[in-house]
Amino acid sequence: MSSLSPVRQTAILSAIAALLSVTFTGSVYFLIFGIDERFWPALNMSFLIPWAITIPLGLYMSKQRFKLVHLTNRLKIAQTNLRQANKALEQRANYDGLTGLISRDSFFNKLDQMRADEISNVLMIVDVDHFKNINDNFGHPIGDQALVLLGKVFRKTLRPNDLVGRIGGEEFGVFLPDTTAPEGQIIGEIIRYEIENTVFEPYHNMRHVITVSIGVTEVAPNQQRAALMGNADTALFTAKRSGRNQVVLFEPGMRAKPRPVHDKAQDFKRDLAHSNFR
Ligand code: GH3
Ligand code: MG
Ligand code: MG
Repeated sequence: MSSLSPVRQTAILSAIAALLSVTFTGSVYFLIFGIDERFWPALNMSFLIPWAITIPLGLYMSKQRFKLVHLTNRLKIAQTNLRQANKALEQRANYDGLTGLISRDSFFNKLDQMRADEISNVLMIVDVDHFKNINDNFGHPIGDQALVLLGKVFRKTLRPNDLVGRIGGEEFGVFLPDTTAPEGQIIGEIIRYEIENTVFEPYHNMRHVITVSIGVTEVAPNQQRAALMGNADTALFTAKRSGRNQVVLFEPGMRAKPRPVHDKAQDFKRDLAHSNFR
């Protein structure tokens, strides 16, 4: 019945109602009056009245039903749009739009969840060496392409359970669950090697070697996040200070990174000295 149009449904229901009414009223009249001249007009009336009531009522109901169907459809569309908007918001909050890796907040939230399950974990911060050079030499969009490429290298190199996120402009966080510090150092070395040997060709026949410095630290149980990040950052700072393109494991007693003093002239000289053209 529901597959029929509302107009057809109304016609069928009216016919059924009229037929039932005629049969019922006819039987009653026949029993009371027998075949009498009063029988026929009364029977006609009993046939017409159900039609006269059911048809306008049915039409009214079908009009209301149309309205309801229309409203339901609009509601469904609104619900779908809302779901999509929520998904997009969630995507924007949890993922980095450029590389597709998870965002900083998401990385640290997941890190906190994952570190609770394992005894031995490793955190590393991977920072691109002289990234400013890429932007300055080839432009910001090419710099973006380099970041996208790095995202792919991470995905290709790391294990499915490892966590990688973009935690800063050209800085990535990697969390290795169920991993010891020496193993973490080896994985860091693999990442460093893979990045250095990945072909990045900003323009035709012009290659640029991307290198990274990596600070590695063991994640002690219940260690505060700030302390954890401080250790990884200290190891990273040591890697940078020792000439970049290397992996350094944090050790107690390492000299922490001093507060940044921005010296543009120094930056310029440094970047000029490290143009990685091939
Ligand atoms: P270092 O070896 O000491 O790390 O040098 P660096 O040049 O990589 O470091 P610095 O912090 O001086 O520069 C980082 C640059 O990364 C500066 C900023 O413009 C650039 N950057 C940050 N986010 C993005 C991004 O999303 N896209 C592009 N293209 N550049 C970005
Ligand atoms: Mg850098
Ligand atoms: Mg940086």
